[in-house]
Amino acid sequence: MLLSERIKRIKPSPTLAMNAKALSMRAAGIDVISFGVGEPDFETPGHIRDEAVQAIEDGFTRYTAVGGIPELKDAITEKFRRDNNLSYERDQILVSCGGKHVLYNIAQALLNPGDEVIIAAPYWVSYPPIVILAGADPVIVGTREADDFKLSPESLEAAITPRTKLLILNSPSNPTGSVYTESELDALAEVILKHNICVVSDEIYEKLIFDGRLFCGIAQVSEELKSKTIVVNGVSKTYAMTGWRIGYAAGAREIIAGMTKIQSQSTSNPNSIAQKAAVVALNGPQDPVQAMVRVFDERRKYLLQRLNAIPGVRCNMPGGAFYAFPNLSYYFNAGTKATTTKGSSDLCEYLLTEARVALVPGIAFGDDDFMRFSYATGLETIREGLDRIEEALGKLV
Ligand code: PMP
Ligand code: GLU
Repeated sequence: MLLSERIKRIKPSPTLAMNAKALSMRAAGIDVISFGVGEPDFETPGHIRDEAVQAIEDGFTRYTAVGGIPELKDAITEKFRRDNNLSYERDQILVSCGGKHVLYNIAQALLNPGDEVIIAAPYWVSYPPIVILAGADPVIVGTREADDFKLSPESLEAAITPRTKLLILNSPSNPTGSVYTESELDALAEVILKHNICVVSDEIYEKLIFDGRLFCGIAQVSEELKSKTIVVNGVSKTYAMTGWRIGYAAGAREIIAGMTKIQSQSTSNPNSIAQKAAVVALNGPQDPVQAMVRVFDERRKYLLQRLNAIPGVRCNMPGGAFYAFPNLSYYFNAGTKATTTKGSSDLCEYLLTEARVALVPGIAFGDDDFMRFSYATGLETIREGLDRIEEALGKLV
């Protein structure tokens, strides 16, 4: 059977592939420690689970409105008002099957072949393939470790061409954990408005933020910027609800209507039971989120201290999300006894076999000098994983 040309241009998600690999090693009895996939290790809070059970008992098990139930749209508009001081009407909101699906719908509704989408590297693995599947071209713009991997207004401007349609921003970032400040967003906003491009602001890690930082999204910069921005968020990370598959978008009516049309001809509504649960997640008590953030923070500090104590390893302190992105290039090539570790993929493979530790290679995020650690796992596991990594790296030099 001949597959489409489109499918040949993308690979499966490397984060999900690494997760599958770690799970299958574990199923084979190998005690592998996984810093691979990015999903909270906490249970979904009890009151959210109870609501889902109630929805089933109540028979809330049929198709809903394609773009989400009014109750959930209202909970989302209220969230934007309360947390971000942004006002939207119901018809400016779309609920989809996870944040990833929201991004897919945006690309399908907005992009034409030949359009360019600017993505700062390191980027989340799914941005380029989602753009490619819409027939458009990702334009990858490098950032510097010394700038905490943030896109500068100068490099943004240098990447813009007459074909540029969209910029994807992600703060807090997967994989680096960097968080843009208000003044950094102001500076980017100037370039965005000057060149009249649109922005996707992926804010899925909004609530996982440390050291007293205040989250700021680019739509909050000005009304004009808000009208050009599609905000992407969801319940996966904030409420430990990755399996429930609820994400949402807020933006201009035309784009939301376009995305809803795509959704009506592809997945239809997101899961009815999960929608009910998401209402309670957004409207209910937020202290379980704060409790998770405290635990993540403790792990973050421990992991960073351990990583930076390994000879040759350098890692910026992540300000948000639950990832660390250390530079491990000291262990490549010439410096190593094993000449086979040429880059992040080789080192990842080495650590998986030698130390039984699963990581995601930086190359999957557009920078081969690094490796991503997801610290959404217990402190003891982090300790054991780092002991193993330290020992295995020690054998290379
Ligand atoms: N954006 C980023 C940056 C992510 O890391 C993820 C990870 N899952 C998503 C979007 C999508 O999340 P989900 O589809 O689970 O809502
Ligand atoms: N976003 C998470 C990660 O980066 C989950 C896996 C995925 O959706 O790619 O690991």
